[in-house]
Amino acid sequence: MGGRVRCESCGTTVEAASAEVVGTRRLEGASDPADMSMVHAIRCPSCGVVGALVTRYGPEASEVEADVLVALPRGSDRGIAPGSMGPAGARRSSES
Ligand SMILES: [Zn+2]
Repeated sequence: MGGRVRCESCGTTVEAASAEVVGTRRLEGASDPADMSMVHAIRCPSCGVVGALVTRYGPEASEVEADVLVALPRGSDRGIAPGSMGPAGARRSSES
């Protein structure tokens, strides 16, 4: 199985396991510690665009998000500067 990540710039879908993770940043909700999510900066192997993929983790993570999280290579943990990029390949969560 394993999750997939879609590049919204060129439409390519890549296996999360073969995605190039250029940075990871963990976010924790200021008001709710259980509201945890991670932002992964992923470079599209097809067009080279770096997009931000946001996933929740922990008990709030969906099955799809968990698949992607497990499959993503453990990249560097050097972090991402906030606001350095727009959401390009992000799979939207269903919160409204
Ligand atoms: Zn692309």
